[in-house]
Amino acid sequence: MLPAICRRYDAHRQQNPCRVIGCATLARRAVYPRALRQTLTPTIHSPPPMPLHALSVPDHLRSCIRNAVRACLDTLLPGSCVLCGHPSPSAVCPRCHPLLPGIASHRCRICAVTLSEPFASCCGSCLAKPPAFDATIVAFDYAAPADLLIRDLKFRARLALAPVFSDLLVQALQSSPSLRGDLLIPVPLSPARLATRGFNQSMEIARLLAPQLALPLEASACVRVRETAPQSGLPFAQRQGNMRGAFAVRYRRAVQQRQVMVVDDVMTTGHTLNELARCLKRHGATRVINLVVARTPRR
Ligand SMILES: [Zn+2]
Ligand SMILES: [Zn+2]
Repeated sequence: MLPAICRRYDAHRQQNPCRVIGCATLARRAVYPRALRQTLTPTIHSPPPMPLHALSVPDHLRSCIRNAVRACLDTLLPGSCVLCGHPSPSAVCPRCHPLLPGIASHRCRICAVTLSEPFASCCGSCLAKPPAFDATIVAFDYAAPADLLIRDLKFRARLALAPVFSDLLVQALQSSPSLRGDLLIPVPLSPARLATRGFNQSMEIARLLAPQLALPLEASACVRVRETAPQSGLPFAQRQGNMRGAFAVRYRRAVQQRQVMVVDDVMTTGHTLNELARCLKRHGATRVINLVVARTPRR
């Protein structure tokens, strides 16, 4: 049994707070009589938990730190070109960059297929039947030798290629300064595919694009709710049906009245991106712009 509070304790209790910052508990050892002090187990005050907002770093600061670290590493450890292997400050050296397939092609502003007419802005397919998305930016064509890089990222988990693709996409986007988005969404994989592969290649690219474009990444706003057969293994006619109802928006507020930028690695027929854009627009997205690393040329 503890005795009643002594007069000394009463007089000093406002002056002996615990020294742990933010803890208002009074320190008992300083005020109890000496005899009692010896019998009491000292009270251990754990520091209050750090508020979450104190741990988070503002996006612009995080971006500055990342760019500074990257610049330092580039200076100290000059990299090499992923295509020719020669030392290069950028992932694709200035000699190889113009050799990327379709890097300077004139493309349809909606589906990014190569156009042969220099003054046309849209392909015949988009004019006849406009897709649900509004614009597409691609870095290069899905053709040799750059297609090997995509396959290395996707099937051999060469995640070090993700910064190469994000840099090339940023460069491609600079040629269309009027295209602006409010947020980034990577094309989601199904849980089963994600478990098999271990990563989502679109997410790996989008994660790097977000600080470069100063846009928030809403990776969980949209999910794949239905397992679909790989599009590459299906005849053209079955691809659209294969994707129907494949996506769902989990957080409507994240996309409502927003211009969404969807990130993907390869665009072949466009059915996957079309289905995703349709789903986003059904949930209130005002505009959908695709950022795709490689576009399969139309035959
Ligand atoms: Zn090179
Ligand atoms: Zn088109």
